Amino acid sequence: MIVGTVAFDAIETPFGKTDKILGGAATYIGLSSSHFNINNAIVSVVGEDFPADHLNLLSSKGINIEGIEIVKGGKTFFWSGKYHNDLNTRDTLETQLNVLADFKPVVPESYREAEFVMLGNLHPLVQLSVLEQMKKPKLVVLDTMNFWMDNAWDDLVKVIAKVDVITINDEEARQLTGEHSLVKSARKISQMGPKYVVIKKGEHGALLFNAEQIFFAPALPLEEVFDPTGAGDTFAGGFTGYLAESGDISFKNMKNAVIYGSGMASFCVEKFGTERMENLSEHEINSRMKEFKNLTQFDIELSAKKAL
Ligand code: AMP
Repeated sequence: MIVGTVAFDAIETPFGKTDKILGGAATYIGLSSSHFNINNAIVSVVGEDFPADHLNLLSSKGINIEGIEIVKGGKTFFWSGKYHNDLNTRDTLETQLNVLADFKPVVPESYREAEFVMLGNLHPLVQLSVLEQMKKPKLVVLDTMNFWMDNAWDDLVKVIAKVDVITINDEEARQLTGEHSLVKSARKISQMGPKYVVIKKGEHGALLFNAEQIFFAPALPLEEVFDPTGAGDTFAGGFTGYLAESGDISFKNMKNAVIYGSGMASFCVEKFGTERMENLSEHEINSRMKEFKNLTQFDIELSAKKAL
């Protein structure tokens, strides 16, 4: 069960610029998690201006869209952002909440028993309301961003207190805790509620924290990165999708989930917007995961002097 924005984005990177294209946190999460052997459903809201083709695309990936409300006469959430030359940082140019401003989410009856809940980036009160409608989830994963820290702090703290895992980027982790060290920051976030904290560091990979345990997954070094938009959501979709498929929520399995999240995100950035995620084969995913394994696995021989 995924909740998040289904949106229009306008993106500018050093390589080009797009007009309003399909975007939104739930869109990226769904496109990513649809590659796992699970049932996916999205709860969200769009306006009447949202093309049927975009909704059809989500359905064609096996995603249940019963929970995407279409508001008559309403305008879809719109976000525009501009990336800096390093592609790791961006400025939000505009956020128009539009139909999101009065959204009262309704989780379809058939999805209230879902075991895995992904609270994608959206107003924390909407995330809370979805959570309250769920029967007894096994794992709740939350993603958020600086916009909600600036605009809905108290509600954000409430929802953070109720989740098992939070995925957040490094800059946002620092903003949330006032700590520069990501280790200290993760510890503080954990004290706010989530047992597991995933800190995403863009092209520098991701860190997974649980109590005193830490795991690190690099990002795949890519020849070409066009547009990082949605990489964080695609990561979250791969991470949660993998856990949902295996049903195993141990720290050991979360390490694999972080690797899958990084692997899925590596595709997302190769083209503008959702384009790469719309056309991604299982074969491509498998060979990229093998590449990942080769990249990160090594047997270390201690030097003779140190082994003594
Ligand atoms: P990411 O690059 O993973 O942070 O995700 C980018 C996506 O998040 C875009 O497709 C936007 O439509 C969506 N987005 C941007 N700002 C917000 C916001 N304040 N709330 C929810 N979704 C947002």
